[in-house]
Amino acid sequence: MSQQFSLAIHGGAGTITRNLLTPAKEAAYLSGLSHAISAGKSILSAGGSALDAVETAVIALENNPLFNAGKGAVFNHQGGHEMDASIMDGSNLMAGAVTCVQSLKNPVQAARWVMERSEHVLLSGAGAEKFAMEHGAVAESNDYFYDQFRFEQWQEAVASNSIQLDHSEKKFGTVGAVAMDSAGNLAAATSTGGMTNKKWGRIGDTPVIGSGTYANNHTCAISCTGHGEFFLRAVVAYDISCLMEYKGLTLKQACDLVVMEKLVKMGGEGGLIAVDHQGHIELPFNSEGMYRGWANNSNEEVLIYK
Ligand code: ASP
Repeated sequence: MSQQFSLAIHGGAGTITRNLLTPAKEAAYLSGLSHAISAGKSILSAGGSALDAVETAVIALENNPLFNAGKGAVFNHQGGHEMDASIMDGSNLMAGAVTCVQSLKNPVQAARWVMERSEHVLLSGAGAEKFAMEHGAVAESNDYFYDQFRFEQWQEAVASNSIQLDHSEKKFGTVGAVAMDSAGNLAAATSTGGMTNKKWGRIGDTPVIGSGTYANNHTCAISCTGHGEFFLRAVVAYDISCLMEYKGLTLKQACDLVVMEKLVKMGGEGGLIAVDHQGHIELPFNSEGMYRGWANNSNEEVLIYK
């Protein structure tokens, strides 16, 4: 019998309803999610590490223009792209992150290198890019990140002088993955283009360890998506881990409390994916929908709506 493993991914949460997606778009999202699940699952079913699985699943989503990360990153106010990513290894509490990188094809890979090849946790902007390039990262020109839909989204946001969360219909398109491997190790990774038309070097929760991403073998692994300012203030990912560690809550109880009560009270829309040290998976969100998927040894599923 193959060893027990668990994997979950997300491609963002928000006002995602059946009437907003054409059947063709819905099929494309589901296929993008399935592709990422397969990529992560193939590593875990072969006995690979949770860390490799979450990085690989997130890279698959970063390379898909449908999601607001990597290739599909939204436009910032200047008409460029500023991407954030983070990764955490629950076996040793090591973590790495990059923020405001403009040309890296796969920011999550750079985050992993920060964790494994530097003495730091979070590198920003030009310095982060230089570090990643020195370690063999692939850089892409602005053309690679160009997408007509994202461009129109940005133009709309500029016209209304607003800062928007991914799609104009309030969708948070960040991507992420969490996993438990057959050795019982947990890992989490998250990657985003942030908010459309963002200014002033705005940074959300995604690259902030404890807010957008967290993993600890004794509790859980978490990757968030939603209105970053709220997720930062609520320190969402670490809060769930703490509720398990210090209060003895189950993963489900902790997720319900944080996503359905605490965040809702604050007005923070979004969701997260979570796996605990026994491989239980939770995919809570307080928005209309969340692009999401999960897999273990025997089952797998991809979902969009409530
Ligand atoms: N949390 C991300 C941010 O605020 C956005 C998202 O989840 O789509 O940057």
